[in-house]
Order: sequence, then C-alpha cells, then structure tokens
Amino acid sequence: MTTETVAAEPTETPVYPSLSPSRAADFKTCPLLYRFRTIDRLPERPSADQLRGTLVHAVLERLFDLPAAERTSASAAGLVGPEWERLVADHPDLVELFADGVSDPDAPAGVEALPGPWPAPVEVTPVEVVTVVGEPAPDAVEAAAMEAAAPTLPGPWPAPVVVERPKWTLADFLEAARVLVDGYFAVEDPSRLEPAERESLISAIVDDQLLIRGYIDRLDVSPEGALRVVDYKTGGAPREAFEARALFQLKFYALVLWRTRGVVPRVLRLLYLKDQEVLDYSPDADELARFERTIVALWRAIDQATQAKEFRPKPSRLCGWCAHQALCPAFGGTPPPFPDPPAPRPADALAAAGVVEPPGADEE
Ligand code: SF4
Repeated sequence: MTTETVAAEPTETPVYPSLSPSRAADFKTCPLLYRFRTIDRLPERPSADQLRGTLVHAVLERLFDLPAAERTSASAAGLVGPEWERLVADHPDLVELFADGVSDPDAPAGVEALPGPWPAPVEVTPVEVVTVVGEPAPDAVEAAAMEAAAPTLPGPWPAPVVVERPKWTLADFLEAARVLVDGYFAVEDPSRLEPAERESLISAIVDDQLLIRGYIDRLDVSPEGALRVVDYKTGGAPREAFEARALFQLKFYALVLWRTRGVVPRVLRLLYLKDQEVLDYSPDADELARFERTIVALWRAIDQATQAKEFRPKPSRLCGWCAHQALCPAFGGTPPPFPDPPAPRPADALAAAGVVEPPGADEE
C-alpha cells in the first residue's frame, strides 16, 4: 500500500474526515466509547482530575508570557488562582464539581482568598530521568488497532471496575494544582527556555483522505533546527498500557510535524509533573512511516464500523472512568439509536472548557 501525504495548513473547519490522538485512542480503548464521544457526541462533565489538568496546562502556557527571569515557582503558583477564575468566569457550572460549592465571586482572584485548611505540602522527591532509546514495542500500536477493530468480542466480559472518586473541595483542588505546577520546576528550568510554539494546533493530510490533527503543549526548536515536542502530564508516570497510550499520542504529533515540516522531531518528551519524571523518546523516519500506515488502518477500521453502525463495547479497568456506563451493554444499558448523520457537537462544559480535545485531553 502506498501512502501519499501532503502538508495542510491548520484549519478549524476541515473538509476531510479528521482524527485526533484522543479520538484514535478512544477507538483503541473501546470502540463504543469512540462512538459515544465522536458520533453520538454525548455530553460529558469533566472530572476534577481532567479539570485540574486543563488548569495546570493553562498555567504553564501563561508562565512563558513572563520574562525569563520571572518564571519562578512562586510566579507560577500565583497564576493558579487567576487562571482558575478565568475558567470559572467562562464556565460557572464547573464549580459544581466541588464539595464546597462555588468560589466567592467577590473575593480577589488568587489562592489567598480560598478557605483552608490546605493539605500538607507534598514532599519533593529527586528527579528520575528516564530515556527510552529505540522503539520499545514496534508492533504494539498496530496490534492494538487491529484488536480494537476485531469483529467479535471474546466472552465472558470481565466485571467492570468502578472507581470511587474522591470529592474534592475547591481549596484541595487548587492546592493540588499548585503542587503539580511546582513539580514542573523539578524537571525543567523555564528561565532557560524560549518555546517556539505553545498549545499549537497542528495538522496534516495522510493517504489523501484523512486529516490528522492535535494540540501540542509545547514545541522547542534548537538553533540548528532540531525539534523537541513537549507534553505535560498531570497524572502519574506511565505504567504498562498508559505508557503505550502516551507514546501513541507523541508519535501522532511527530508524524504531523514530519509531514508538514519535513523534519523528524529529534525528541518527544513527556513531563510527568506528579512523579517528576521525564521520558524522552527519539523516533526515526521508518518508524513514523509505519506509524502512518497504522493510523490509516485504524481510520479504515473506524470507517468500516461507522458504515456498519457497529461499535462494540470493550470492557476494561478504564470503564471506571467512563461517563457512559448507563448506556453501555456491558453495564446492562442500551445505546441510543445510531445518529445519521452524526450529532452536532454539544456546547457542554466539557467541550467548552477544552477538556476533551484541546490541551490536557489525554490526561489519565
Ligand atoms: S463502560 Fe467501558 S465498555 Fe462501556 S463504553 Fe465505557 S469504556 Fe466502553
């Protein structure tokens, strides 16, 4: 199979079918989850963890607006409150996620106005730098794509695990965001960095038919022109399936950059703020060419499922984070009638707050 690729300018209204790493990962994780999110476009309320990821990403983006010498941990902590107030101003319903209700609209912006007591600070551990050389599992992603597209599911299905979520208070939430922001300073010194791009939408057309697109948290360009893609993760460092998911996302970005700029990124970097770990990965052109074929194969599997209107549930421990258990046959539910054409995108809090597609979309 020959794969032809042309560069595309980023656009908000693609005329091609499009695929983001988040939605591709949805299909690999559970085809029915992909349907609920992308075809039914069922609204989802963001979890506090997702919202915290969005907040931390916003703070780290804004941090680089400051002069280099002012990019300190204290400055970053001081951005948490104002960035939260900005989110709430746009989407007041977001505060309903918290046990202590709304923040005081008359209070000055900033964490000082929030009620205590705050939890004890998290002890900072030494930085562990993990460097991945070569490709750890060349065919893992392709195998996962094929598995997701399998026509039948082996039974019996495992009993889904439902995770009990702690109920955050707003003060706990903001403090946890500050701890994560502080963790960033354990793995990088932003005063020595001048990112080329932040929160950039990048896209490319592959196979003459599919627009692949995604938001990269940060792109660094060396004086020699070498590219480094940086992605902030607010969950824990990857273990097993999560590592594959994170690398899938980064390879997706690397493929887009390679096809649009003609340069294979030298480094794909994951910064795990919670565990203060760095994971570097260096792809090569052959690997990205294989990955491109995998993406096209995955898209064809999605297209076939759409034509057949058949998206099967794929229960796993990730069901505990799924907002659609009540409609899922694995939980005794019934999906809604298949929409034709796909439902319009809802203006729900999740989409409007940028939790699904834009920055922070792949937080675990
Ligand atoms: S509950 Fe599990 S199996 Fe059902 S749609 Fe969600 S992720 Fe898929």
